[in-house]
Amino acid sequence: MKEMEYDVVVVGGGPAGSVSARYAAEKGARVLMIEKRQEIGSPVRCGEGIAKRWLDEIELKPSRDWISHEVDGARIISPDGSYVEVDESKAGDESGYVINRDTFDKILAMKAAKAGAEVMVKSYATALLKEEGEIAGIRMRHMGEDFRVKAKVVIGADGYESQVGRWAGINTALNPKDIDSCFQYTLEGIEGDSRFNDFYLGSMAPGGYIWVFWKGNGIANVGIGVQMSKIDRPAAAKWYLDRFIESHPELAKGKPIREVAGAVSISAPLDRTVTDGVMLVGDAARMIDPVSGGGVYNAAIAGKYAGMVAAEAVEAGDATEDFLKKYEKLWRKRMEEHLYRNWMVKEKMATLNDDIFNRVIRILADVGMDELNVQNILKAISEKDPELIKEFEDFL
Ligand SMILES: Cc1cc2nc3c(=O)[nH]c(=O)nc-3n(C[C@H](O)[C@H](O)[C@H](O)COP(=O)(O)OP(=O)(O)OC[C@H]3O[C@@H](n4cnc5c(N)ncnc54)[C@H](O)[C@@H]3O)c2cc1C
Repeated sequence: MKEMEYDVVVVGGGPAGSVSARYAAEKGARVLMIEKRQEIGSPVRCGEGIAKRWLDEIELKPSRDWISHEVDGARIISPDGSYVEVDESKAGDESGYVINRDTFDKILAMKAAKAGAEVMVKSYATALLKEEGEIAGIRMRHMGEDFRVKAKVVIGADGYESQVGRWAGINTALNPKDIDSCFQYTLEGIEGDSRFNDFYLGSMAPGGYIWVFWKGNGIANVGIGVQMSKIDRPAAAKWYLDRFIESHPELAKGKPIREVAGAVSISAPLDRTVTDGVMLVGDAARMIDPVSGGGVYNAAIAGKYAGMVAAEAVEAGDATEDFLKKYEKLWRKRMEEHLYRNWMVKEKMATLNDDIFNRVIRILADVGMDELNVQNILKAISEKDPELIKEFEDFL
C-alpha cells in the first residue's frame, strides 16, 4: 500500500473542504484535500441561492464567473398567495446571489490549490488510519489503488452523508424529523418576477417549503424540501413538487434541463464536532440552517475556522481534542445560537396549518418586515391578532 504524508488531510471538496484546505495551507500547513467525485462541484446538488454579506469574510470577490443572477430580496408566500417581501440584506442566507454552484465550488478549490494545498479528485476516503490506537490520518482509494495518508489532523468535510464523523466516534445520527428530503428542477422558459427568490410555505410542502430561485433569462431552480417524518417515501418530495408546478401555469410551461435529488439536515447543532486528531465541518457537522436549509455560508465560515485551527495545531504539535476545541468555540460563538433558535422555529412551523400560515403572512405583509426574525414576527402577530398569538404561546 502506498504511503503519503501531510500535516492536514481534508476529506471532501465542497465549500467546507476547500475553504478549510485554503486557510490551513495559507497558515503554513502541508495540506491534501481529497474529493471522491471526478470533478469538484459537479453534479450540482443545490438551489444555488446564497446571501451576499459574508463573502468578504472568505476573501471572495463577487464575480460574473460564478454569479448567475442577483436578486433584490425574498418573498415569503402563503398558501392563499399572500406574501411579504424582505430586502436581500435581511432575507436570510439564501437570497442575494443565485450562483453557478459548480463553478463556485471549483473557484474555492482553486483558491485552496493556489494557497499551496494539494487537491486529488477521484479519491475516496475509506477509513481513518490508526496507529497504536491513535488517529494518524486516513485510508484512501484512488484509481483502484489503496493509500495510507498520514496526517496530524483530519478535517471531515464530507457532507450530509459524512462517514468521517462516524469513524471517529462522533454522533452525527439524525432523527427523521431533522431531515428534509429534497427534489429540484432547473426549468427553462418560465415566467415570474426574477427580482425575488420565492419561498412558498404550507401543506404543499409538509414541514418544509418550495423555492423558486431565478438564474436569469427565464431559467430558475424550482425545488422542494419536505420533512422526512411527514412523508412515507423519499420520492414523495418529487410528487409534491410536481403537483405544485402543475398548479402554476407560469412554471408548468418550463422544460427541465436539470434534476436534483438530495437531503439536508435540519437538526439542532451537534454536541461535539471534534475529537483527538479530527474536526467536522459544514454539512458533516450538521451546520445547515434548519429553517432555510441553506448551508453554503456556514460551511465556508466554519471551514475558515477549521483550517486556521488545524494549522495552529500542527504548529503547536498538539492535535488533541482539547486543542481542537478552539475550532468548536469559534463556530459555536458565530452560529450556534442562530442554528438552535431556527431549529425551534422549524419545529414550530412543522405544526402550523395553512390557515395559520395565511394569517401570519397577511399580518407580516400588512406591517412590513425590516428584518425577518422571530422577535419581529411575534411582535407583529401579538399587535395585530391577539387570538393568533395564543398559537405561539408554547413557543414563546
Ligand atoms: C437540493 C438541495 C438544495 C440546496 N440549496 C441550497 C441553497 O440554495 N443555498 C445553500 O446555501 N445551501 C443549499 N443546500 C445545502 C448546501 O448544498 C450544503 O449545505 C453545502 O453544499 C455544504 O457544503 P459542504 O462542503 O459541507 O458539503 P458538500 O458540498 O456536500 O461537499 C462534501 C463533499 O465531500 C465529498 N465526499 C463525501 N464523502 C467522501 C469520501 N469518503 N471521500 C472523499 N470525498 C468525499 C462529496 O463528494 C462532496 O463533494 C442545498 C442542498 C440540497 C440537497
